[in-house]
Amino acid sequence: MATCFWLRSCGAQRLGSTFPGCRLRPRAGGLVPASRPAPGPAQLRGYAGGLAGLSAALLRTDSFVGGRWLPAAATFPVQDPASGAALGMVADCGVREARAAVRAAYEAFCSWREVSAKERSSLLRKWYNLMIQNKDDLARIITAESGKPLKEAHGEILYSAFFLEWFSEEARRVYGDIIYTPAKDRRALVLKQPIGVAAVITPWNFPSAMITRKVGAALAAGCTVVVKPAEDTPFSALALAEVNQGFLLDLDPLLLASQAGIPSGVYNVIPCSRKNAKEVGEAICTDHLVSKISFTGSTTTGKILLHHAANSVKRVSMELGGLAPFIVFDSANVDQAVAGAMASKFRNTGQTCVCSNQFLVQRGIHDAFVKAFAEAMKKNLRVGNGFEEGTTQGPLINEKAVEKVEKQVNDAVSKGATIVTGGKRHQLGKNFFEPTLLCNVTQDMLCTHEETFGPLAPVIKFNTEEEAIAIANAADVGLAGYFYSQDPAQIWRVAEQLEVGMVGVNEGLISSVECPFGGVKQSGLGREGSKYGIDEYLELKFFFLASSSGMCSCSSSNNSSLVSSSGTTCRSSSMSSSSTPRLKLFAVSTTALLVFATSLSLANPLKSRMNLLSVFFQMSFIRSLVTSPQAQARVLMES
Ligand code: NAP
Repeated sequence: MATCFWLRSCGAQRLGSTFPGCRLRPRAGGLVPASRPAPGPAQLRGYAGGLAGLSAALLRTDSFVGGRWLPAAATFPVQDPASGAALGMVADCGVREARAAVRAAYEAFCSWREVSAKERSSLLRKWYNLMIQNKDDLARIITAESGKPLKEAHGEILYSAFFLEWFSEEARRVYGDIIYTPAKDRRALVLKQPIGVAAVITPWNFPSAMITRKVGAALAAGCTVVVKPAEDTPFSALALAEVNQGFLLDLDPLLLASQAGIPSGVYNVIPCSRKNAKEVGEAICTDHLVSKISFTGSTTTGKILLHHAANSVKRVSMELGGLAPFIVFDSANVDQAVAGAMASKFRNTGQTCVCSNQFLVQRGIHDAFVKAFAEAMKKNLRVGNGFEEGTTQGPLINEKAVEKVEKQVNDAVSKGATIVTGGKRHQLGKNFFEPTLLCNVTQDMLCTHEETFGPLAPVIKFNTEEEAIAIANAADVGLAGYFYSQDPAQIWRVAEQLEVGMVGVNEGLISSVECPFGGVKQSGLGREGSKYGIDEYLELKFFFLASSSGMCSCSSSNNSSLVSSSGTTCRSSSMSSSSTPRLKLFAVSTTALLVFATSLSLANPLKSRMNLLSVFFQMSFIRSLVTSPQAQARVLMES
């Protein structure tokens, strides 16, 4: 209901910008490319060989609102988590800037929703192309600000760009429905319409992909966005803005003349410090011009945002924390299970929401698995700076993250766990931790019921399938789960019983743009990616249509006029085609009787009252003859 109101009330003239120096440009045709001011001075520093030589245009430090780069009154520092060096000072947006961004996004929505799906599709495709064109630079930004090994950062940029590509295709596949109602001459048409402005809040562990997974779907649907990236990783979000405006077209002169760019105000980025995150988050999530909150991050923060959403009844997508179980049954292939365990546990140094959090290994295969897992860790994992060739394990995002892993290891050891390998901070620096394998782990230890988000693999030994499923399902979250088995019956059973949104069966890597990503229980609400992802940004609306000429015999031109006419117009002429001649007969007969009655009453006034009474009964009789049974039934139903 609220959304309908906003859609109707979209009026650019009523929304003046409150942002200093920001005059939002009129968008007569709906598609106006953003202005292209010269890039500001890049202040990024970092690891030698890391950001050196990077295009200055990509290293943005201002907020991006209404198609313009805008400084804020204050700035905050962003650090390289590997070296601790300051990378640059970024605009620290507050409530005022957040509100201005929402207004810019809302104003842009009024024209963006009118842009044809084909045009939206082609703009998203161009954005994808530009990401691919600049993938090396974008990957280096991710490594610089998050510490992720460069090879993985390259993987993230591809994954991130694929969401734009995927949703550029899905933009043209938003279909409605036709519903056959109980009334023979009536149909309901279901439309899917963009929700409106989406507030998008993202974490640091996938600084690029967590944005495009939401923004690709939102823009494809016809929504506009205000993105608040994590304090630790704002550069990737700002570089995406740079790329989507087509600033980098000079890399490809062939495109330069024709490229339009995503229109101003459709994609807005308001970086802010952790100090401001609470109030900025509240400002964008409670603003009445925002219709949707899309969040990826911890369950704790997700619950705060759900409160904001509840007060103003907004649609939500919540991609929250996980506690993924990794189960190895006796029938599993050990080598395959170890390869899956390495991939699912140590990607991004254990800092993904789908990283395995606890390993449940059946008694018969336990020792062989633990031995092979420890060997694989020693052989394949190399801790180092993400820019160094061969590094597989970068730093954790900050010292707090290291403290959490350290606390979990100490807690487990104090309760009887055994360190197989690793177990302490790494000599490389305060943000590094050794890849660690623990066995003899029990359910009373912190690491089995608290998301680790670090390079710690705790192994619990179990006896029966029921026991493993009970341990896995004891969690109050349920994002991903993995298991290894070669028993087909067991595969079906366990896949169906695990209380998670995504299951890897003999597979440790499950994320793909084609598949629905999301969790159950306290891991969140909604799905991202896949053909379902775009629905998160669409509202259903139905038209109830009645025909004046009979639905079944409608020609195609009649159908199109029905679709474009309002329901009210259709309802006002609700007789079926078969009743039309009868109505004419009714009208002619009524007129003749009235003329007859009037002439009689003029001739003989004394009999006039009797005559008029007689006319009334005759008219009622004729009407009952000419009105169809369906029409009578409908009159009864509607009354
Ligand atoms: P987080 O602390 O919840 O932060 C996520 C985002 O929310 C950041 O931008 C953060 O800003 C912001 N934020 C924090 N408090 C806020 C508030 N009160 N109001 C509005 N915004 C607020 O999560 P994180 O530690 O960065 O990320 C790790 C978590 O994300 C893990 O639990 C992980 O499982 C989850 N995650 C889930 C998925 C998924 O798809 N399900 C994917 C990736 C990560 P600041 O950075 O300024 O604090």
